[in-house]
Amino acid sequence: MYRGYEAVIGLEVHAQLKTNSKIFSSDPTNFEASDNQNTSPVSVGMPGALPVLNEQAVKLAVITGLALGCSIRTKSVFSRKNYFYPDLPKGYQISQYDEPICEHGHLEIQTETGPKTVRILRAHLEEDAGKSTHHGDFTLINYNRSGIPLLEIVSEPDLRTPAEAADYARTLRQVLQYVESCDGNLEEGSLRCDCNVSVRKAGESKLGTRVEIKNINSFRFIEKAIEYEIERQIDEIEAGRKIIQETRLYDPDKNRTFTMRTKEDAEDYRYFPDPDLLPLVITSSYIHEIRKALPTLPQDRCKVYIQHLGLSDYDAKVLTETRDLADYFEKTAQISQRPKEAANWIMNELLRELKNSSQKLSEIKISPSQLAELIELVEKGVISGKIAKAVFGECWSSGKNPHDIVNAQGLGLISDESALEAVIDRVLSSNEKSVNEYKAGKTKLLGFFVGAIMKETKGQASPEVVNKILSKKLNG
Ligand code: ADP
Ligand code: MG
Repeated sequence: MYRGYEAVIGLEVHAQLKTNSKIFSSDPTNFEASDNQNTSPVSVGMPGALPVLNEQAVKLAVITGLALGCSIRTKSVFSRKNYFYPDLPKGYQISQYDEPICEHGHLEIQTETGPKTVRILRAHLEEDAGKSTHHGDFTLINYNRSGIPLLEIVSEPDLRTPAEAADYARTLRQVLQYVESCDGNLEEGSLRCDCNVSVRKAGESKLGTRVEIKNINSFRFIEKAIEYEIERQIDEIEAGRKIIQETRLYDPDKNRTFTMRTKEDAEDYRYFPDPDLLPLVITSSYIHEIRKALPTLPQDRCKVYIQHLGLSDYDAKVLTETRDLADYFEKTAQISQRPKEAANWIMNELLRELKNSSQKLSEIKISPSQLAELIELVEKGVISGKIAKAVFGECWSSGKNPHDIVNAQGLGLISDESALEAVIDRVLSSNEKSVNEYKAGKTKLLGFFVGAIMKETKGQASPEVVNKILSKKLNG
């Protein structure tokens, strides 16, 4: 609650679909291309150039829609959204309007007060515009982005705080990355967010006038921009002024929003079906095939990890952060049949090494089956936990099998009783005073003896055998 007001927030997220070519032409989509390299008569809007729909963009839209619980229209329509701007050389953007490809979905987010379902109004396909950069008295335009396929995912105004909005955007990105429809790279502009914000007096059911803050490309700025905007709107209302429906921009350096233009209404865009493109017809068997191939989503995996594998909420959340990590964990758990140990090794050793290296998870040398092998060596008492960490380090850098490392370096536990007895006798005779104290009742010295024996054997003494012999010698 803000000074007796409630904030109402809805997000429009533009996700760049991961295709090799643009949505209506064969121009490449690679980010590194030099300025205006990825262009053709279609993407710079030459008269007479005709759009041809990219099937991969449609497929990724359907995948994403299904992952977001949307219904997929078997017939959707491409429309022209008309406006004039130099980065839009045709004078219109091809988008979808009243018959979008996906509609009526939902996304669950975690809030301070528990899970919350945010409704998704629709997700529609459209082409991106070019990019203008302003340099003093001239402007340059790069059309590489012109015609890049976007899926615009529009939420209902269900969000209530800046933190909820940022969490929604993060969760959405995670789903997009799981289904591999968008790389979610904010710096490269693969995910851009328009935030719609209004305020109303607490308890009021009518929505206030909304302001749209355009093109935010960081989760932190989503939060800060909305935070600022809520306060600004309340100030306006408290000062007796009206909120004007408008589009604003956020300036991160000044941490404030400022007017870009007063808001166009749909009629300003003169939407009409694009005569160059047929309605898009998708069969239900196509949708069915895609639904069958969808990967399990992070939230569903989380539930399984907690309910069936006995992991904590925290561990489950970390392990499902990316699909690669979740897959790695599941393989390790499956091979070793020890999910908790697999989780511990990954959460502690593996993620630490990964953080310290410049590698991606897909590039590391230690495989799930090797990690499972290491877990088994510890569980079967072949090596101690401490030695196992060293073996992990070796396996991480060389990719050798844990078994081979243990054999080659003779790291296995010493279980031979006569060998250990000799070490134990040596330790006890050089600590006579402590032995007497122990016998006089100071039993917590046991740990001290074990420690000394472990040091002598470089951690390789079998704890079980050591305990057996020690208690015979000290208590017997
Ligand atoms: P437009 O293209 O004009 O921005 P859209 O329907 O695409 O319209 O998007 C409207 C967005 O604004 C949706 O995310 C919706 O949830 C949000 N929204 C609508 N009304 C309000 C409101 N009063 N306050 C805050 N957000 C709103
Ligand atoms: Mg909008």
